[in-house]
Amino acid sequence: MSDSINLTVIGTIDSPYKEKFAIPRQPGIVTAAQGQLHLTGSANNAELVRGLEQFSHIWLLFVFHGTQAQGWKPLVRPPRLGGNKKLGVFATRSTFRPNPIGMSVVKLDRIEQCSSGQSSTGQKTSQVILHISELDLLDGTPILDIKPYVPYADIIENAHGGYAQEQPNNNIKVIFSNAALVTLDRNSEHYPTLQSLIEQVLSQDPRPAYKQNKADDKVYGMTLYKFNINWQMADSSTLHVIAIQDAAIQDIHSNTV
Ligand code: SAH
Repeated sequence: MSDSINLTVIGTIDSPYKEKFAIPRQPGIVTAAQGQLHLTGSANNAELVRGLEQFSHIWLLFVFHGTQAQGWKPLVRPPRLGGNKKLGVFATRSTFRPNPIGMSVVKLDRIEQCSSGQSSTGQKTSQVILHISELDLLDGTPILDIKPYVPYADIIENAHGGYAQEQPNNNIKVIFSNAALVTLDRNSEHYPTLQSLIEQVLSQDPRPAYKQNKADDKVYGMTLYKFNINWQMADSSTLHVIAIQDAAIQDIHSNTV
């Protein structure tokens, strides 16, 4: 038997998280995060998900495609421990692993099958889409498998969570500038959850571990959906969203000047 195994991607993720920075460290933390899983190739067939709609949550096994090329090391520094203590990679949920495989439980909101046009041979094609939320996945993440979340087997009462027993409690207060509120208002029809998403993501304090709970005057940027968002710490527990810009509109402006 060979030591390597070939796997086939069964779907890809459409996520508001367009870059790694500021993605929550686990699923379930940011409830306003909504995305889609598009089944691909021979897995793009409604038969494969028949009955799955009975489950409120699903496990996704995926490839950490955004960090895969950076390889791995036997020891990693979990941000949880302030980034200054090393633990074995298998004692962490780090993305840099010998096999770059991640696993997340996400909420399954609904399953949709829509016609996606015609193939080159004139046959009608259809697309199976799983609408999911509470995800912690980068846009474009390749999915290897989907399994129903089965509470009786998957919930373990009294399990020990070691150094990660409790969910991190970063209660940063997020305030918005008037300019940011205007952009939110203008986009409220197409992005009704954008404000909650920004609040939930930023209240986790996505800055590097060594900056947490400290004042800091750097202006940070992050991208959610098509928006570039700039923010800065106002003090050690309040974060100020300075501006929210539609990246598409920004591009038009930069082409005309
Ligand atoms: N729930 C998963 C992921 C934990 S690590 C698990 O336990 O296996 C969480 C981090 O994974 C996030 O902060 C995000 O930055 C990163 N991430 C999510 N999707 C990724 C991808 N496709 N490639 C690389 N990193 C990714």
